[in-house]
This record gives sequence, C-alpha cells and structure tokens, in this order.
Amino acid sequence: MCNKSLTIIVPCFNEEEAIGVFYQEVTKVLCGLPYDYTILFVNDGSKDGTLAFMKQLAQQDEHVKYLSFSRNFGKEAAMYAGFCNAHSDYTAVMDVDLQDPPECLPEMLKVLESGEYDSVAARRGDRKGEPPVRSFFSDMFYKIINRFSDADIMPGARDFRLMKRDMVDAVLSMCEYNRFSKGIFGWIGFRTYWMIYENHERSAGKSKWNFWKLMKYALEGIINFSQAPLSFVSGCGLFITVVSFVMLIFIIVRRLLFGDPVAGWASTVCVVIFIGGIQLLCLGVIGQYISKMYLEIKNRPHFIISDTNAKDVIKIK
Ligand code: UDP
Ligand code: MG
Repeated sequence: MCNKSLTIIVPCFNEEEAIGVFYQEVTKVLCGLPYDYTILFVNDGSKDGTLAFMKQLAQQDEHVKYLSFSRNFGKEAAMYAGFCNAHSDYTAVMDVDLQDPPECLPEMLKVLESGEYDSVAARRGDRKGEPPVRSFFSDMFYKIINRFSDADIMPGARDFRLMKRDMVDAVLSMCEYNRFSKGIFGWIGFRTYWMIYENHERSAGKSKWNFWKLMKYALEGIINFSQAPLSFVSGCGLFITVVSFVMLIFIIVRRLLFGDPVAGWASTVCVVIFIGGIQLLCLGVIGQYISKMYLEIKNRPHFIISDTNAKDVIKIK
C-alpha cells in the first residue's frame, strides 16, 4: 500500500443532477488505487440541492469533504479555495460533469510517479460537437495570448490537471485577485505532460458558459497575462502623431505656396472623428488595466466559506 495522499478538487455550481454520477464514477476509479484519497467538493453558491447532496455523500463516505461558499464566487475562486485547503502529495482539479474522465486518473498518476513530470494536464484532441465560430475564436485566442504573453497556454487545454505538491505551492504563491488559471499554470512553468483525450459531452445539467461569457473570459486572460494591448495603443498613438505632424507641415507649406482655398472641411471632420475614436479606444484599454488594478488594490478575499465538514479550513482568503 502506497501511503501518498491525493485530493480531487471538484468545483460545483448548481450541479445536483451531475454530482451523484460523478461521485460514483470517480469513487470506482479511486477505490482501486493505492492512495489515501479525498474528494473535495467546493459548492460555489449553488441555488439548487447541490449542497444537500454533498452533505449526504459526506455522511456516507469519509473520503468526501466539502467547502461551501457564502455566494457564487466563480470557478476560479472555487479552484483556489480547493488548492488552499488541499494538503496532499498530489492534487487534481476536475469538473463534476464528467467532461474530465476519471478513467484518466490512473494513467496520470503513473506519469507523476515516474518522476519525470511535475504535472499532468488534459487536452482535448478534437473539438467535435462545437460550433465552428466558437472554434475559430478559440484558435485566435490561443494564437494571440501565446504570441503576446509570458504564459505558455496549450490550445484546447482544460482545467483538468494533476499536480505534485511543489506545483500547488507555486500556484498558491500567485495570490492575484483576477485569477486566470490556464495562464497561472503556464506562467509558473514546471514539467507538464500533456495527455490528449477525446472530447466528452456533459453527463447531466447545462454548461454555465455562453459565447459572450467565453469572449469575456478570453479578454480577461489576455489582459491578465499581457501588456501587449497597452503597447499596441501606444504604438497607434505614436503613429497617428507622426502622420498628423507630417500632414500639418504639408498643409502649412501648401498654404504658403498656393494660398488658402476653403475646401476639404468634410475630410477634416472625418479626421477629427477618427482621432476621437482612437482616443476613446485607448482610454478604454487603459481603463481595463486600471479596473484590474482597482480590484487588486482593494485586496478583497477571493472566497468566503460559510459551511464545511473539513478540519482546519482556511475559510476566508
Ligand atoms: N462552475 C463553478 N462555478 C461557476 C461556474 C461553473 O464552480 O460559477 C463549475 C461547474 O459546476 C463545473 C465546472 O465549473 O464543475 C465547469 O463548468 P461548465 O461545465 O459549465 O464549463 P464547461 O465544461 O462548459 O467549460
Ligand atoms: Mg463542463
């Protein structure tokens, strides 16, 4: 019997339909493995019977622990709360809808045991069943973020990941308020083995993401891990200044040589509007960064836990 410990962090938001099947499937796999395991459910302010279900499971099975938030803080906060309260040798994050197949766990553990890697992360091999527009924007996102940021993000990566203690400690050392885990995992480095698996449909319930939410998530990722938009708008500003200066010289010279026929007011208005638009765009981009700084400076907690069955829990962080 190996006495290493393993924690599976499972963020849940309104998942009463999915949680039972998940528990059965994951327990089936974990029972057969030589690890001292804990399934750490994080109830992210669900409004349905998710918490009641977790409590029931915790009563039946001592491997089940739960942390319940005082409201919905988002999946990133749920994962962070899980990391803060997982003290095991190995830690994994999994979705409750079985889109992250528990059958992969034994192989992932084997890879970590081999000692060559610090983490094993899952990556979708295909995007079957996804609308082409979504795949297109998703590809664009990965191209942009990998070109312009320090974080190395693998296209098609999910949050499904198994990590050694050192890597979890590194994740915890990044205590920023605006969390973008895909970027954080890439930024901290470590040796990661990418496991490709077939895309799975959700077991039950509905995805919490729509196109606009994903778009917002992608923009957050870019702003959190790259200063490229700021450099881009500064570049635009410089370019427009140089061009307008050259145009000004041209107009002055023309005035001196040919007099001043009153023409071209329409084009003048166009230029004024164009520049006004660019200025607003630049202000908007700067505003995005300032709003992130505002949230960071306030130093509010990432999560507040109002109910749990685990011992020595960090309840507010
Ligand atoms: N989730 C969460 N808080 C939220 C939204 C989602 O904890 O505010 C959880 C959800 O219960 C699930 C996981 O995050 O376990 C992934 O959510 P979902 O399946 O909706 O995302 P998708 O797989 O479509 O990316
Ligand atoms: Mg899902």
